[in-house]
Formats: sequence, structure tokens, C-alpha cells
Amino acid sequence: MYLVATPIGAARDITLRTLDILAAADVIAAEDTRSLRKLMDIHGIALEGRPLIAYHDHNGAQARPRLMAALEEGKSVVYASEAGTPMVADPGFDLAREAIGAGHGLISAPGPSAVITALTLSGLPTDRFLFAGFLPNTSSARKTALRSLAQVPATLAFYESPKRVAAMLRDARNVLGAERQAALCRELTKKFEEVLRGTLDELAAELGENPRKGEMVVLIDRPGELSVNLSDIEQALRAVMGDMSV
Ligand code: SAM
Repeated sequence: MYLVATPIGAARDITLRTLDILAAADVIAAEDTRSLRKLMDIHGIALEGRPLIAYHDHNGAQARPRLMAALEEGKSVVYASEAGTPMVADPGFDLAREAIGAGHGLISAPGPSAVITALTLSGLPTDRFLFAGFLPNTSSARKTALRSLAQVPATLAFYESPKRVAAMLRDARNVLGAERQAALCRELTKKFEEVLRGTLDELAAELGENPRKGEMVVLIDRPGELSVNLSDIEQALRAVMGDMSV
């Protein structure tokens, strides 16, 4: 079973190996069959009577048996999510786990992913990062999630929708601090690619005033010395308050 990454914008970002796998697989499964078909057309790969099966979050349980049966018959199966790397905020995890559980070989053909592309452009430290996927939709749940990440000593990476990004940046500024460095990476590898770098305060203000459309990744720097000291102070205060209540 092959897991292949597909472009996040520029069709020519597909790898030669992924093209070889798509050309040779017995069965092709895709989160979005139309977009994979289009990509294959661009690169001159014909289906030639091979099944193209939809496999996404809403039909995984029904579609998996057919793909597993193909593997049992010794056929090769390739899976591509709509864009980027399968399983990175995309379907494919249950499929991979079932294939592993049944003893089938699992092969990854790596390629584009928005989180890695954004990280390399952000100007933020790349030695350690935490990919946190999409934050919750509501502000209170989002703030709770952000609080749980506030002291993580790594660059934080989030996927975000254009509808929510201004509110998300406001919440991040309020929870993580106005001065934390951040980057917003938008429409990567596409015509209107844009990277905004600045403090959370600056980015929240910019997105509040000038909303942006398109696909985006938000990256936030690790806490600085001040935040670390604040947490030490908080711990010390808790200890003192604990003593006082005795
Ligand atoms: N599996 C994909 C990957 O490896 O990046 C991610 C799929 S996730 C459902 C889609 C989200 O990824 C978008 O909402 C956006 O946050 C981010 N994304 C995808 N393509 C992007 C692009 N070209 N520029 C910026 N962000 C992108």
C-alpha cells in the first residue's frame, strides 16, 4: 500500500516517484477523486480501466474493506489525500493502521506538506516544532487549547481557515502575549503566495484591518525568557498560597 503526497498548489511539485506509483498501481484511492484525476491528467497518467475509489472522512468505514480486499488479492493500492501529505490533518490514518495490522507493506512517497513549507518560510526556529493542526472553532475552546500550548518550548504550527484567522490571532495574542513573534503563510506555492512576519499583536491588527482569503498556516515562536519567568513566578505564588491555606 502506497501513501503518496500531492502538491499543495503548484502541480509540478509532484515527485517523479509519486508519478511512477500512480502510473503503476492496480487500485487508486483518493480523498477527492476529481482533483486526483485532474492532477493525473496534467501529468499525462491515464486510468486505463483501473478503479479510482473515493476514500475520505465520511466513507472510510465503508470504503476500507474494498481496499483491504484488493491488498489481500496481492494488488497494489495507492492513496492520495486532496492535497499535501495524507494523514497530516487529512484522512488515511485508519487505512494505514489497518494495512499495518493485516501485515501489508506500507510505503510512503513523501512530498509537499503545507506545515513544512510554511516552517521553512516563517523565519522562526525550525529545530523543534509542534504541529497542532486546526484549533477549535469557538473562542473559549480555542483559548483553552492555546493555554495548554503556551509553555511548549518549540515553534507552534497551526492550520487555519480564512474565516477564523483574525479571531484566532486575537486569541493567540491575548493568551500567548502580544510580543511573541509569529508568521502567517498564505497560498503557498500558488500565484498569490504571501508571508507576513511580526508580533502576534501586529499580525492580529493587520488581519483585523485587512482580511485575507485563501489557505493559510500560522506559526508562533516559542515563549521567551519573560514567559518562562512568569511561569516560575506563577509556580512560586501557587506554592506560597498553598502554605497560606494550611
Ligand atoms: N495534508 C495537507 C498537508 O500536508 O499540508 C493539509 C490538509 S488540511 C485539510 C488543509 C489545510 O492545510 C488548509 O486549511 C491550510 O491551513 C493548509 N494548507 C494547505 N495548502 C496550503 C497552501 N497552499 N498554503 C497555505 N496553507 C495550506
